[in-house]
Amino acid sequence: MTRKRIVVKVGSNVLTTDSGKLNITRMSSLVDQIAWLRQNAYDVVLVTSGAVACGRKELQVNHSLDSVEQRQLFSAMGQVKLINLYYDLFREYNIHIGQVLTTKENFQSERSYQNQKACMEVMLENNVLPIVNENDTVSIEELMFTDNDELSGLIALMVGAEMLVLLTGVDGLYNGDPMDAGSEVIRRVKPGDDVSRYILSSKSAVGRGGMTSKFNTAISVAQAGTRVLIACGNRDNILPDLIERPLETTHTEFVPS
Ligand code: GLU
Repeated sequence: MTRKRIVVKVGSNVLTTDSGKLNITRMSSLVDQIAWLRQNAYDVVLVTSGAVACGRKELQVNHSLDSVEQRQLFSAMGQVKLINLYYDLFREYNIHIGQVLTTKENFQSERSYQNQKACMEVMLENNVLPIVNENDTVSIEELMFTDNDELSGLIALMVGAEMLVLLTGVDGLYNGDPMDAGSEVIRRVKPGDDVSRYILSSKSAVGRGGMTSKFNTAISVAQAGTRVLIACGNRDNILPDLIERPLETTHTEFVPS
């Protein structure tokens, strides 16, 4: 069976509890689901946020730090914890992981793009699961990815993924405020559909992204020919359900051009 490639992006709001701690039960469940994908002929790239949120809980700082200092300090600390947890969880399945920390600069010149691509390829060819995050320790504000949604879109196109799944705290793109009982998830966005009026600019408390950046990423990745799904990472078994029972599983699909 030929293997297909899928990029799964998990946001900080899925990976952390309300108090900002890493949600280990959720991480463990996502690892089970990614192991399932690999057993079902998908090569997976995981793009994971959560470093800054996780680092923030590690250290009590009682003097003021500016936003750059906070991002550098907390991402450096949090990334260690995050990747260690993934290492332990994937080891239960004998899945080898590799850490890829990258910056927007690596996608800008042809030379660094090819270098980054070669890194992804060598990992996938050797059956190693790449776990990608922005290197927030050295990312300069003007040159940062908007958030990991943008990064995951670039990675999906780089590895020629057949699908990008953006896992977030809601079931998809709603035709109104997700908190209103009358709002419904828009199930399919086809090329040329204008749904931009439905995008709310609100964001979760922990991550940098939000529905605007998910939407922008989804539109540009779908235009480039890759299917994009936005779904809720807090739902049990969401990844297998999206593959095996897409009609019964609430999500938004961006149909590729
Ligand atoms: N790279 C950031 C982190 O790991 C997350 C950025 C985002 O929220 O998209 O904390």
